[in-house]
Order: sequence, then C-alpha cells, then structure tokens
Amino acid sequence: MLRIRDLTRTHGSGAAEVHALRGVSLDVHAGELVAVMGPSGSGKSTLLAIAGGLDTPTSGSVTVEGTELTTAGRRELAALRRRRIGYVFQDYNLIPALTAAENIALPRELDGFPVRRARREALEALRDVGLEQLADRFPDEMSGGQQQRVAIARALVGERRLLLADEPTGALDSETSDSVLALLRRRCDAGAGGVLVTHEPRIAAWADRTVFLRDGVVIDETGGSSVQSLLTGTAG
Ligand code: ADP
Ligand code: MG
Repeated sequence: MLRIRDLTRTHGSGAAEVHALRGVSLDVHAGELVAVMGPSGSGKSTLLAIAGGLDTPTSGSVTVEGTELTTAGRRELAALRRRRIGYVFQDYNLIPALTAAENIALPRELDGFPVRRARREALEALRDVGLEQLADRFPDEMSGGQQQRVAIARALVGERRLLLADEPTGALDSETSDSVLALLRRRCDAGAGGVLVTHEPRIAAWADRTVFLRDGVVIDETGGSSVQSLLTGTAG
C-alpha cells in the first residue's frame, strides 16, 4: 500500500539547514495500521506529508499502491490525493466558506461524482463520526473537536485505501477519540492501510505496530514495552 525508502527531507540551506528526515524507510501493508510516535520536531508531520504527496522529499522513494510519487506528474498526484489517499491534517484544514457536508463532498465533486451522490456520501461520513446534525454548519460555527471530526469524515469518505492521520484526536475527549479510532481501525481491518501520528501511547495502542522517530530517523519499530520506555525516558 505504502512503501517508503531512504527518505530524506532537508529544509533551508547552509547554516539554516534543518534535516527533518534523515533516511527513513517504512512499509504499510493493506489491512495494517501503523502508529508513528516521536517527540515534537522529530519529523512525524514531514513523513506523513511526503507519504500523502503534499511535500516532496530531498531524496528517496515513496510509492502508493505502486505509483511512485516523486516522479508522478501534478495531475496524477492530484487525482491520487483525491481518490486514494485520505489525509487528516493536524490543524483540520477545512475550507471556511464551505459547510461541513460541502467540505466532505468537494473532492468527490471534483472527481466528477454527481452533486447528489457526493452529498449523500458526505452525510453518511458525517453520521459515522456522529455529526450528521451539523451537516450545514460552517467550520467557524463548530468546536475544534467537531471540526476535527469533519476533517476525519472528509478523509474517510469514498474508497480511499491509504489513510494518513496527523494527531487526529488532539482536540477530542477520550470517548469521541476512541470512536474515531475505532472507525479508522475498521477501515484498516477492511483492507485499507493506515498511518497514525500520535504522541500518546494510548492512541498508538490501536495500531498493529509503532515506529518511533527521533531527529528524523527511525529509532525503534516495536509496538510494545520498548517504545513505552523510550517515551518515558527510561531507556537508552
Ligand atoms: P513533528 O511533526 O514530529 O513535530 P515536523 O515534521 O513538523 O516534526 O518537523 C521536523 C523538523 O523539520 C523540525 O525541526 C521542524 O522545525 C522542521 N521543519 C518542518 N517544516 C519546515 C519548513 N517548512 N521549513 C523549515 N523547517 C521545517
Ligand atoms: Mg507534527
């Protein structure tokens, strides 16, 4: 589903050079949910943005269902992002001038689906995150947690096979957060591949395994106690 090899991403140049990623490799198979953990600034968002075709690596390879993103044309990449990749942004990125339902329907309409069908799917996606009643609200008429759930619904709508979520439950209480994670988990159990960026072990526990990043490199790849001890600073 997702194959990442030797990824590097450098921002700036000379004295201002920042190495956000320094040789990261990662595979996510169909049916698998992988958590990415690591301290702030370790490269988690950069990794996800590159996996989603939103940022370009300095070097390395990224393939999504066999399509190499680093050499794909802009149109191909845009179509892949609309159809295949569901992306939940850390800061939601909803379009302020569109209602909740319109935000979710937009990529489907851009893809040529009839407006009515796109609307129906949007309402179903909103129901999945428990927000059907807010379909016609604008983002600034919703709480942060509600906006986050709309952003999640937008990422899950349609037949997206690669689901990338950057701290998707940061604004949610634990009950809502669990229901959203259960949704993501179900989609992966049904054959999607997922990457879940989080700094909370409780949330990473929903994943099949955890990749731990520090300073742009993968320093651990287990799902168990070694990651926990790294987090709490009791190891190495
Ligand atoms: P995380 O999501 O783990 O907090 P990021 O991927 O956002 O980490 O950032 C990794 C590193 O890259 C940080 O040092 C950050 O400051 C730097 N960085 C990210 N984006 C940019 C950018 N556009 N320009 C310069 N530095 C950046
Ligand atoms: Mg981040």
